[in-house]
Amino acid sequence: MSLDGVYDDGNIFARILRGEIPAARIVEDDQTLAFMDAFPQSRGHCLVIHRVSTARNLLEVRPEALAAVMSSVQRVTLAVRRALAPEGIIISQFNGAAAGQTVFHLHVHIIPRWSDRPLGRHGGGGMADFAELKDLATRIASRLDS
Ligand code: 5GP
Repeated sequence: MSLDGVYDDGNIFARILRGEIPAARIVEDDQTLAFMDAFPQSRGHCLVIHRVSTARNLLEVRPEALAAVMSSVQRVTLAVRRALAPEGIIISQFNGAAAGQTVFHLHVHIIPRWSDRPLGRHGGGGMADFAELKDLATRIASRLDS
């Protein structure tokens, strides 16, 4: 599947939203959900998705839904900084398989960086320990603004 296609409600993020598979959730509001990436490229790698939009990528999403996602991305990124004190933070988003997208429900990556730690490969890392992800999610959530 690539840039064009039909939204598949069996995708992994749709299943997380329905509670069919577990995720280390950080925060959710009426429009968005933030949770830890299960195959992190660095410690604290998390994702933000829209809870209702069935946009598969940036090209399809309605501007209002995109605004809600990006507002949540900024809020969670600030909390990641407070919680984990990274030296830098990558914000990334992939459109189409050729660009590296593997899950076709629009999402934005928040990837903390430290200059002395290598960045893991996108989509190529090992699965993180779930208890560790839950601990990180709790730490990040505790540093959200109100
Ligand atoms: P994409 O490759 O589409 O930009 O990003 C998909 C992201 O979802 C990847 O970073 C991958 O590690 C993550 N991912 C894949 N499967 C799961 C899962 O079951 N749970 C969680 N929390 N993340 C996942």
